[in-house]
Amino acid sequence: MSVRDLVVLGSASAVPTKARNHNGYLLRWDGQGLLFDPGEGTQRQMVRAGVSAHDLTWLCVTHFHGDHCLGVPGVVQRIARDGVSHRVDAAFPASGAEYWERLRHAAVFRDTDVIRARPVSGERADLDTGGAPFTLTARRLSHPVEAYGYRLEEPDGVTMLPAELDARGVRGPLVGRLQADGAVTAPTGGRSRWRSAACGGRGRSSRS
Ligand SMILES: [Zn+2]
Repeated sequence: MSVRDLVVLGSASAVPTKARNHNGYLLRWDGQGLLFDPGEGTQRQMVRAGVSAHDLTWLCVTHFHGDHCLGVPGVVQRIARDGVSHRVDAAFPASGAEYWERLRHAAVFRDTDVIRARPVSGERADLDTGGAPFTLTARRLSHPVEAYGYRLEEPDGVTMLPAELDARGVRGPLVGRLQADGAVTAPTGGRSRWRSAACGGRGRSSRS
C-alpha cells in the first residue's frame, strides 16, 4: 500500500527544547523516504516515531547550520549499522561539501557504500531520481548561508468527475475517449475537454 505522509521528527530552531527536537522531517512517498534536515537527535526521534533506517532513500540537507545537519553522523552510521542495502542519495549545498565530509565521517564506524553524495549548486538543480515517479528539484533560498529548498513533484494527471461528465452527456465509452484524446463531442453536441470542469488535476507536490 502506498503511503504518503510527513513525519515531523523535530521542529525547534538552534536550541532544542524539552518538547521540540532540532529539525527533522521525513516525507514518506510511495515507498521512498526523504529525510530533510536531520538535526541533532534525529536518530533517537526516528526510533520514537517508528522510522527505520531502511525507510530512508534520500537525505536532503538545506544548509549547514547545526540544527539542520548535526544529526547526519547518527543517521549515516545507523544506515551502516543496520546494513541498509539500497542506495541512499544525499543532497546538500555543494558549497558546504567540507561540512558534509566532516559529518559523513565524524566518528569511527564500519562504513557503508550505499550513500551517494549529490551536491547541488547554482540557482536550480534537477536531481536524478532514478526512475522514481516524481522529480526532485533544488532551488536556492535566501538565508545567511547558502541554502536550498527541495521540491518533490509528480506529473500532472486528471481525475474524471462522474457528476460533471454526466451533466455534459459524456457517458460510457465516451469517458474512455475523453481520457485518451483529451476532448470528445457528446451526443447532445456539447464539446468536452480534459481541462474543463469535468475533471480535476491530481498532480501533487511537496516542498521543504
Ligand atoms: Zn539556518
